[in-house]
Amino acid sequence: MSTPATPVVAAAPAVPAIPPSPTEPAITEPGVPFVEIEGLRSQQFIPAAKEALLSLLAEQGQGKVIRPVFNWAGRNSLFPLHWGLACCAIEFASAFGARWDAERFGVVPRSSPRQCDLLIVNGTVTWKVAHKLITLYEQMPEPKWVIAMGNCATGGGPFRTAYSVVPGVDKLVPVDVYIAGCPPRPEALLDGILKLEELIRERRE
Ligand code: SF4
Repeated sequence: MSTPATPVVAAAPAVPAIPPSPTEPAITEPGVPFVEIEGLRSQQFIPAAKEALLSLLAEQGQGKVIRPVFNWAGRNSLFPLHWGLACCAIEFASAFGARWDAERFGVVPRSSPRQCDLLIVNGTVTWKVAHKLITLYEQMPEPKWVIAMGNCATGGGPFRTAYSVVPGVDKLVPVDVYIAGCPPRPEALLDGILKLEELIRERRE
């Protein structure tokens, strides 16, 4: 009678839990109601969110709740201006198509700067168009944000030394997030938008 073969795959040893670092506190949502949204259908979301919000208001008072809730809502519903400057604009358009579907993050392009809080500069900025860009930025209501998408918007790109090209859109308007690439892919734009959401949370809470 033969002896049973030794199992080839051994059970993995248990991985010890990593204690939280005292210098890196866990990211939390202070004051924002915790709602189990995973299993909710859209019709159930609003009543559940309303119930959580009202209970939090009763518990903590308006002062501690309204600002974080407005910030949470604002950073998860960014409205970029619907415009394009050069080849990076094609990637911008792709990001909002069916394959990458940026709207699942609540990012919805609007065609009037007065309805927008995000300017995505997606191409080569020339001095000829610079004053138009500044006008569009100034027409957007506060609080507003700017993403420099691609090497041209970030620093002039391959045309940096041309007499007609602005060597970086931060010479005209304040930039919050820079995205490298020529052109950056739609995934890079989505990553930049998510980075901006983190930045808004850090700055405004
Ligand atoms: S970074 Fe490259 S792809 Fe984007 S606008 Fe400039 S040249 Fe075109």
